[in-house]
Amino acid sequence: MAEEYFNYINGKWSRASSGKTYENIDPANGDVLGLFPLSGPEEVDRAVEAASRSSAKWRKLPAPKRAEILFRAAEIMVQRKEELARRMTMEMGKVLKEARGDVQEGIDMVYYMAGEGRRLFGDTTPSELPNKFAMSMRVPIGVVAAITPWNFPLAIPTWKVMPALVAGNTVVFKPSPFTPESAYHVVKILEEAGLPPGVLNLIYGEGSALGVPLVEDPRVTLISFTGSVKVGNEVAQRASRLGKRYSLEMGGKNAIIVMEDADLDLAVEGIIWSAFGTSGQRCTAASRILIQRSILGRLTERVVGAAERLRLGHGLLPTTDVGPVINQAAVDKILGYLKIGVEEGAKVLTGGYKPTEGEMGKGYFIKPTVFGDVKPHMRIAQEEIFGPVTDLIAFDTLEEAVKINNDTPYGLVTSIFTRDTNKAFRAMEDITTGIVYVNAGTIGAEVHLPFGGTRGTGNGHREAGQAALDVFTEWKTVYVDYSGRLQKAQMGD
Ligand code: NAD
Repeated sequence: MAEEYFNYINGKWSRASSGKTYENIDPANGDVLGLFPLSGPEEVDRAVEAASRSSAKWRKLPAPKRAEILFRAAEIMVQRKEELARRMTMEMGKVLKEARGDVQEGIDMVYYMAGEGRRLFGDTTPSELPNKFAMSMRVPIGVVAAITPWNFPLAIPTWKVMPALVAGNTVVFKPSPFTPESAYHVVKILEEAGLPPGVLNLIYGEGSALGVPLVEDPRVTLISFTGSVKVGNEVAQRASRLGKRYSLEMGGKNAIIVMEDADLDLAVEGIIWSAFGTSGQRCTAASRILIQRSILGRLTERVVGAAERLRLGHGLLPTTDVGPVINQAAVDKILGYLKIGVEEGAKVLTGGYKPTEGEMGKGYFIKPTVFGDVKPHMRIAQEEIFGPVTDLIAFDTLEEAVKINNDTPYGLVTSIFTRDTNKAFRAMEDITTGIVYVNAGTIGAEVHLPFGGTRGTGNGHREAGQAALDVFTEWKTVYVDYSGRLQKAQMGD
């Protein structure tokens, strides 16, 4: 019998009032890993109420004290890293090495944000008037709805929950229904670390059944969303109608540009890791490889060969390079794009199908796929496929590559492989994505730098680093006049 898990509302673990549950499934073999509540608006209401009631006390707790709880949580995460990673591989599918990376990114973020408890700097600046003091300080926003996807089941929740908490906000956390157990561990660890009841609440269930009432609840003042453009735009419309703050981190159509002078061994390694790591289910996955025409044949051969050598399997097996995709809907979507690609005139150079025999048939596996003869305006080169599929596109000059790179509805990551410093700097200047790598793949964000994208990838905010604090706090400006008379700014006296 699978273990049953509960919502966490006001410091108590409880079932949904409907009594209904759903199964958390291992995408590699269909095993049932746990039962989770199918909650509805009643649980949303209770969770928001708890967050709202605990807000006044939590925001008054000095930030260094809030941070002590985060430091303790980080210590617990370090001790449990291996268990967290293994359970993540089982519910999400990514190979164990990557799951460990996901947990490590979470640990890094908890420590980083705990450190913020003794910073959260504001400014002091001279006033334009004598005997007057001027400063600005960060203050919490209130109740945060943290809505997260399944592809980084531990790291992304920490990217939202930790800065929100250290800054003095309370949180209602609604994870993806496809990775509920990792969300449980994050919350359980914070509970064990001493987080007071009500400050962080966790509700499980289907996206829109919870997401809509959560976003619309007037007590929720900020929505921090990571997920697809479609849902993100819905969240944005609802939130903006109600005058709420919201930050959106959405999809990508990221490219690796390979110049003819590049170290091709390095480039091939970067391409394979970026295109097929996490089965291509990263917002930062490289789904377009732009190759200078003079090396097109050589590089194509090497990328196809390396993709063919990748071994599919359960992510816990040491022999596995690429795990399954998340669910049947993902399989259908990816197979749909494979068909579209062929209809558009692209050529499947390797992969292009779902294996059905033996163990493979039990899981949501897709063979790593490389499309050749792709033109920049094909749908497969413009739309996010979110699977182990990458497109090879030829170009002649750096200017053309940069133009192709910039010309999609998304703007998250670009990488360029070149040994020519002038070209690297020109690319850094002209590429319009939020993140640029030189001589590295499109994957590899570090938690102390801003993370996010331009155009349809987001709405201008950044997660991680100091930039995250701009999402989870607002500024209060304070003037203190100790002149003993009414000094009027800009009035000349
Ligand atoms: P999704 O949009 O389907 O779901 C994201 C979250 O929104 C889930 O928790 C879901 O339950 C919830 N949701 C669904 N309907 C809702 C509604 N009507 N109102 C409010 N919430 C609702 O995305 P997904 O499939 O979980 O994740 C994959 C997507 O996430 C990809 O597009 C990927 O690029 C993107 N992503 C972006 C980043 C980034 O930082 N830019 C990082 C990771 C993933």
